Amino acid sequence: MLTCKDFLHELSDYLDESIDAELRLKLEKHMAECPNCWVIADTTRRTVQIYKGMDPVPIPTDVERRLMVAIEKKMAARK
Ligand SMILES: [Zn+2]
Repeated sequence: MLTCKDFLHELSDYLDESIDAELRLKLEKHMAECPNCWVIADTTRRTVQIYKGMDPVPIPTDVERRLMVAIEKKMAARK
């Protein structure tokens, strides 16, 4: 079973469509069971699409890193 941390770790590859089918299924299963990660994935996907529309450069690592920090803080606060 995938944890939220695993999910976030694989998210950029998932959105990049550069992961194998087995891992993709695991991530999709996690999203189906975890509304929190679903929202994160959906938001990130939109962000990436906006960036791709503006510029040919792939996912900006700076944005991704800041997003990860924000998510981890949010999740730590819930516990
Ligand atoms: Zn999750």
